[in-house]
Amino acid sequence: MSTFSWQRAVIKIGSALIAPDGRQCSGRYLLPIAQFINASREAGKEIILVSSGSVAAGRAKIPVNHVASIAEKQAMAAIGQIDMMANWQRFFDFPCAQVLLTSDDLHDRTRYVNIKNTIRELLNHQALPIVNENDTVAVKELKVGDNDNLAAYTALVAGADTLIICSDIDGLYSADPRKNPDATLIPEVEHITPDIYAIAGGAGTSVGTGGMRTKIEAADKCTRSGIQTLIVNGRNGSVFDALQEGQIPGTLFKAQQSHTTARRLWLEHTLKTRGKINVDDGAKSALVNKGASLLPSGIVEVSGHFKPGDAVEIECNGQTLAKGIALYGAKELRQIKGAKSSQINNILGYDSGEEVVHRDDLVLLKPAG
Ligand code: GLU
Repeated sequence: MSTFSWQRAVIKIGSALIAPDGRQCSGRYLLPIAQFINASREAGKEIILVSSGSVAAGRAKIPVNHVASIAEKQAMAAIGQIDMMANWQRFFDFPCAQVLLTSDDLHDRTRYVNIKNTIRELLNHQALPIVNENDTVAVKELKVGDNDNLAAYTALVAGADTLIICSDIDGLYSADPRKNPDATLIPEVEHITPDIYAIAGGAGTSVGTGGMRTKIEAADKCTRSGIQTLIVNGRNGSVFDALQEGQIPGTLFKAQQSHTTARRLWLEHTLKTRGKINVDDGAKSALVNKGASLLPSGIVEVSGHFKPGDAVEIECNGQTLAKGIALYGAKELRQIKGAKSSQINNILGYDSGEEVVHRDDLVLLKPAG
């Protein structure tokens, strides 16, 4: 069995675990998962949950004897979301924090930065973020659509190094184990090829290994961005003991490159810069020698028109030092440049944090030539 290590993980819990009879949330399979979350946090690791269950939890309260309409399902989700959260909270003595997202939120630069900041802040305050799709507002074209892909996006926005998808199946099998007794569990997938998709079943169906397609899609998104992905059977409590010992009791999809390398390449080569921030020598030294974030006090000049979430170049005396994601727009930065972080609120009337570019969102560039 392979071993693995991680520091920040997204754990995705499907309806089969939280609402096994499809009608209400249950704690039946959650205790070993909650113990794993507790033990991991005590070991200094960070966890974000992505949990289904709101529609199932609300179903018992909106009885329909036909196939539920979209609006009925949205109403079920609105009623059930609170039960789903409460179902988790009873396992923990730290706060669970509700984060509801749609596809639109993840594709809008400003909202993306807000989500990222909120998750970062929740983790800083030892809360457990619990993410679900915002079913109330999301109809088909606004939805991510399934919580496997939502978990992948969450892992990306949260800067996680690992995604653990907990399902009611042991992992990816060489064939559908319900139909083929010779099917074997695949412990490790080096690259997600078309063959892997073929094993998982065709698009839009839940044949193959039962909803495996969206899990492979999630693994594909994550592993390409340096996030290792696991599919494990969350109904089997011993899985979480094994995980705690650094073993992989399911299928591991290996990250295609290290998380840091993937992030660095993305920041350096994929993101288009929208402006420049000129900094003084003090800020330069803090960025280059101390691994610090960029604060407003070190900013001398701002050029270009950029919004929060846009990439910018950071320069000092005409030399490009770094590239990073600005957490304030150009207009706001022109107002707060040179100011202390504690003055941001007085100047702008709000405060999006003391950093202008957070260290996690910054890559130092080698001097040209
Ligand atoms: N958002 C849905 C719910 O909470 C779950 C969607 C999914 O599990 O893929 O019921």
